[in-house]
Amino acid sequence: MRHDESRALYDRALSVLAGGVNSSVRATKPYPFFVERGDGAHVIDADGNRYIDYVMGYGPLLYGHDAPEPVQAAVQKHAAAGPMYGAPTEIEVEHAEFVARHVPSVEMIRFVNSGTEATVSAVRLARGVTGRDKIVIMQGGYHGAQESTLVDGGPDDAHPSTAGIPSSFAEHTIPVPFNDTEAIHDVFEKHGDDIAAVMAEPILANMGIVHPVDGYLQTLRDVTDEHGSLLIFDEVITGFRVGGLQCAQGKFGVTPDITTFGKIIGGGFPVGAIGGKAELIEQFTPSGNVFQSGTFSGHPVAMAAGHEYLKYAAENGVYDHINRLGKRLRTGISDILEDQAPEYTVVGSDSMFKTVFTRHGASGRSDACKSGCVQDDSCDNFDACPKTGADVASAETDRWERVFWHEMKDHGIFLTANQFESQFVSYAHTDEDIEETLEAYKEAL
Ligand SMILES: *Cc1c(COP(=O)(O)O)cnc(C)c1O
Repeated sequence: MRHDESRALYDRALSVLAGGVNSSVRATKPYPFFVERGDGAHVIDADGNRYIDYVMGYGPLLYGHDAPEPVQAAVQKHAAAGPMYGAPTEIEVEHAEFVARHVPSVEMIRFVNSGTEATVSAVRLARGVTGRDKIVIMQGGYHGAQESTLVDGGPDDAHPSTAGIPSSFAEHTIPVPFNDTEAIHDVFEKHGDDIAAVMAEPILANMGIVHPVDGYLQTLRDVTDEHGSLLIFDEVITGFRVGGLQCAQGKFGVTPDITTFGKIIGGGFPVGAIGGKAELIEQFTPSGNVFQSGTFSGHPVAMAAGHEYLKYAAENGVYDHINRLGKRLRTGISDILEDQAPEYTVVGSDSMFKTVFTRHGASGRSDACKSGCVQDDSCDNFDACPKTGADVASAETDRWERVFWHEMKDHGIFLTANQFESQFVSYAHTDEDIEETLEAYKEAL
């Protein structure tokens, strides 16, 4: 596989883009391949190499690289007609109506331009509505590039995880381990009256994919209700991916006060959204007093793409297809691990998957967890299946990044470049793609 063009492009990029990229996760070593174009479930790089793509833009591309015809038509129509105005448009109302109809927690919504913007606004809204400052987050959770959540440490030693954030900001953030019922109760016992919200991904999806243990999300619902705090589900990845159109909250049967969206909801264009009960979302300006605004918010092209994306999913067997292939892939990888690396663990559900290079997985796995760890305590591998972000971080993360990812790429399979980021099956993937991918796993593991 030649990479001369990509290397030359990266050489140029290093002079004018920080680290040669516009989002840090793209800077794979020694240099990333530059994409020339997408084709269904594949991407083709600047040197003409073709890969089966499971990165899928880090989540948004439910249909792969060729959107269904109604999506393409709507995008072209709205791009040609404006593309944007600084005045409201019908497509924003239609998209909001659709989301409110399908997602249990959403009566009203505010569209923004990225997942980060959505979580920033959700935190501000929670603080504004409750008059409290503290935010509880999950260790290993990810809520975008925002000041209140780029925080490491535990409940008593929270500190910014990056340069550029005053440590006084982190004083208002309380990180707790995911899936730890005792930790969340302790924190509420101590700080309950000061906690504006708990913000959590219903499945940790930026940390190897960590499934909630039975009852954990309900515990978050109960403890926030008890203390007058809000529950925010960050469904930027899981929204319209896990649980289909009802999202992860519908699948798990736990309804948050506020939900943040991004990724799929914009049909491949920049987007974010904050949804919830009308009485909460109405507290944003201009109806309320929590400031929220954006030049590009509700951008007609993104709204049209997102709306047609979801409508197409409602009218076709999209989730059946991608969830079936997801299960086939996870089960196939489990079988390979059984033979070649029983200590590793397959995680994920619906159309998300990952192999965590755990060090002590059980061999002889039962059907309960063959198609991905869902924290079923009858599974032989229950103890080794990651419960927290720290469990994933203690896996063989270097092996993934330095050896395995490159081997898969050389076999023509494009996976996310580190142990932590999720991978996605799209509607464009086929059974043949899955076969070819499993062959590559067999050789690379
Ligand atoms: C991707 C992601 C974000 C950030 O979204 P951007 O559009 O990259 O700003 C926030 N939360 C979760 C759970 C995400 O996966």
